[in-house]
Amino acid sequence: MPRFDGREWNEIRKISIELDIVPNAAGSAIFKFGETWALAIVDGPKPGKMSAGFEEGLLRVRYDMLPFSVPERKKPGQGRREIELSEIIQRALKPAIFLDELHGSIIDVYVQILNADAGTRTAGINAASLALALAGIPMKDLVIAVAVGKVGERIVIDLNKEEEDYDSEKLKNDPEKSKFIEYYGEGKATDIPVAILPSERKFTIIQLDGEIERENLKKALNLALEKSIEIREIMKKAILNKYESLKLPRI
Ligand code: ADP
Repeated sequence: MPRFDGREWNEIRKISIELDIVPNAAGSAIFKFGETWALAIVDGPKPGKMSAGFEEGLLRVRYDMLPFSVPERKKPGQGRREIELSEIIQRALKPAIFLDELHGSIIDVYVQILNADAGTRTAGINAASLALALAGIPMKDLVIAVAVGKVGERIVIDLNKEEEDYDSEKLKNDPEKSKFIEYYGEGKATDIPVAILPSERKFTIIQLDGEIERENLKKALNLALEKSIEIREIMKKAILNKYESLKLPRI
């Protein structure tokens, strides 16, 4: 028997990508992992007022979730969680960008979550990565993010909200859901969102919420590495299709 939503342990939710949806922005993209939808918009590079003489460019990220993106309406605006996630997404993206080629310029990345079912930071990083590439920002690779983790006793990829909230004790009293304990096993969930530079097999962030044994952590991170290459192919294809469909004038 498979996961709550019918996936296998190593199966990512359906990925959908839309590119360049905001005409006035340098680059924009929507990246979806199933019901988790992130929109990223890049503004820049633009000259910074105070940055004359700075060697490096500056990358700023603002993450937020729209009030209707979650079942129980979220208070509008950034709270502590949103400020922290902005910082995390900035740290995930920064190692990919050749900021030293952007002498004092500023790049603003706006990440808006349109619909949330867990994994908003990972979908947000992927959307931002695409929008940065479309804006022509010099990068060594696309940064690819995905969550891995342990739900009960099982290693899985790309946890949805139901899996992030897993608690076998609570499910025992649920006549509809208790059968899933057979698949996941006893315990709660550990979520490990990561961001990866696939070409270098390097992690730019690893976060961990919960507990996991060393061997299982290794297995989970290897799964993330392997899947990051698959996700990158899907993202690369989306960019290539976009440029193929542009009708260039014959010279
Ligand atoms: P991530 O979205 O990256 O997994 P979190 O672990 O903080 O980050 O959030 C997990 C999920 O919890 C979100 O994707 C969303 O589905 C839900 N969530 C987060 N914040 C709220 C909120 N204020 N109200 C309702 N649901 C929320």
